[in-house]
Amino acid sequence: MTGKQILIVEDEKPIRDMIAFGLRRAGFTVSEAEDCSEARSRIADSRPDLLLVDWMLPDQSGLELTRAIKRNKETQDLPVILLTARAEEQDKVAGLEGGADDYVTKPFSPRELLARIQAVLRRTSPTAAGEAIEAGALKLDPVSHRVIAGEQTVSLGPTEYRLLQFFMEHPDRVYARSQLLDRVWGGNVYVEERTVDVHIRRLRKALEPFACDSLVQTVRGSGYRFSTRPE
Ligand code: CA
Repeated sequence: MTGKQILIVEDEKPIRDMIAFGLRRAGFTVSEAEDCSEARSRIADSRPDLLLVDWMLPDQSGLELTRAIKRNKETQDLPVILLTARAEEQDKVAGLEGGADDYVTKPFSPRELLARIQAVLRRTSPTAAGEAIEAGALKLDPVSHRVIAGEQTVSLGPTEYRLLQFFMEHPDRVYARSQLLDRVWGGNVYVEERTVDVHIRRLRKALEPFACDSLVQTVRGSGYRFSTRPE
């Protein structure tokens, strides 16, 4: 499970450092934010794979941040684990109703936190947990970065691979070009929207010999969708 990026949103530096240390040792890339507004800009800059959000933050509560993330179409898939010193059952319910994917009460051991993170990642993104995903004849292995169709390896450039991985993780949903740029290229990269079309064409071309190009579907006026069902 290496290379996945976790954003820690916590104003108390000693706790942040302790969590960051454990996560880096487990192979994660870690970014940090002291409050909700810094968290928002970090999410826009380099979309993390998971957020650890402390409940008590100086500008807004972690619960409010979680609600805002889950309400926004661009970020609603982002897994959030709320950290809190409050062990009351009603807080837990509020946290989960606010959209948090899990809830960890302080004090927690680094080992416990890691187990919860891995469970959430496995649930929300199989490839984040290193598991292969399949769609139709295609199988994508995130560990070897290989895509197999039947018995053969599909030759893909790095962008086409990322695009296909994103599609396979989010099937049957339409994504606008701007959303694909945001999710596959990263929020702060300046790329024109028609670049998406170029890479979609390359991806289809790479899938064509395996009769899988029809999985990448154009939705007129909206964008693209990946689906094993016919258009
Ligand atoms: Ca705090």
